Amino acid sequence: MTDKLLDIRDLVTEFKTEGGVLQAVKGVNLSLAAGETLAVVGESGSGKSVTSLSVLGLLPKKVGQIVQGEILFRCRDGAVRDLATSSDRSMADIRGSEIAMVFQEPMTSLNPTHRIGAQIAEAARLHEKLGRKAARARAIEMLKLVEISEAERRAEAYPHQLSGGMRQRVMIAIALVCNPSLLIADEPTTALDSTVQLQILELLRRLQGELGMATLFITHNLGVVAEIADRVAVMYGGRIVEDAPMADILTAPRHPYTRALLASVPRTDHTARAAGQRDRLQAIPGSMVDPMRPPPGCDFAPRCQWSKDICSTDVPALENVAAGHNVRCCRWREIQ
Ligand code: ADP
Ligand code: MG
Repeated sequence: MTDKLLDIRDLVTEFKTEGGVLQAVKGVNLSLAAGETLAVVGESGSGKSVTSLSVLGLLPKKVGQIVQGEILFRCRDGAVRDLATSSDRSMADIRGSEIAMVFQEPMTSLNPTHRIGAQIAEAARLHEKLGRKAARARAIEMLKLVEISEAERRAEAYPHQLSGGMRQRVMIAIALVCNPSLLIADEPTTALDSTVQLQILELLRRLQGELGMATLFITHNLGVVAEIADRVAVMYGGRIVEDAPMADILTAPRHPYTRALLASVPRTDHTARAAGQRDRLQAIPGSMVDPMRPPPGCDFAPRCQWSKDICSTDVPALENVAAGHNVRCCRWREIQ
């Protein structure tokens, strides 16, 4: 049993590929309390989306598979379900009613041939069993909630008539129409330019405060989530390499990869200056571990400026460094 809203335990997710079995997620533990925001951060290919698709039951059929672990989710009725073993049908019920999602590219999730008001109303009818008129009214209400002005008129627009930021607002409206207890947002602002990105982040923060849903916020950009997440889990090569309260990650990061991530993104949060961020951003040298050929020892060792012999022989365990703060690095004590 769990007192968490979401409790992912020792999740392993694999893909069958032409080159053999690829382990994309290698024993991930993550949990989320009701109303909390957890950011999952890491470079492209670190296993963030595969983790979220595992939770949502949206892994590609036959190719992708959860081979180990549990994904415990507390449903509205109080029952705890293991999403790792739930049927497709019950996952379809849970998605869009208890767990909602927003992805990077809203255009691929919206139907180009239907007006946006009708698409939101459809979601309301499906999940809330509303009649036509009530669903229509709910759609307008949702457009107002996501700060789309002239909601009645805009409801008649088709997706291509809206800007990228507006389309993402519509996706958020569809996601939230049924009052989910968990929102999974996978790079929701990555495709947007930076001003619009900030507006969408602000909107998500406001909605979360008002509606109280928990959020799993996935991003490659630690700067984006500095102001909105309560906790952070840093992923590398399919593993969590550090997890901590956001304030600890910003002021006392332990893992060399977390430090490198922090130095590689522009930061606007108030702790950036205190942490001594240099004006020039530093790209992380080298490239993401090849999941088909992980190195022996620590996955990050080949790119790590602090690596020593031990790093290429021993896979480090996740160690507790402070309250709620864990790190997977053999040398964390020496390099602080
Ligand atoms: P990200 O952190 O960028 O979201 P992903 O979770 O998408 O990374 O990918 C993690 C790993 O899983 C990558 O090595 C990726 O190539 C692999 N992967 C993702 N989807 C598939 C798939 N459908 N088939 C094979 N490999 C996949
Ligand atoms: Mg991804």
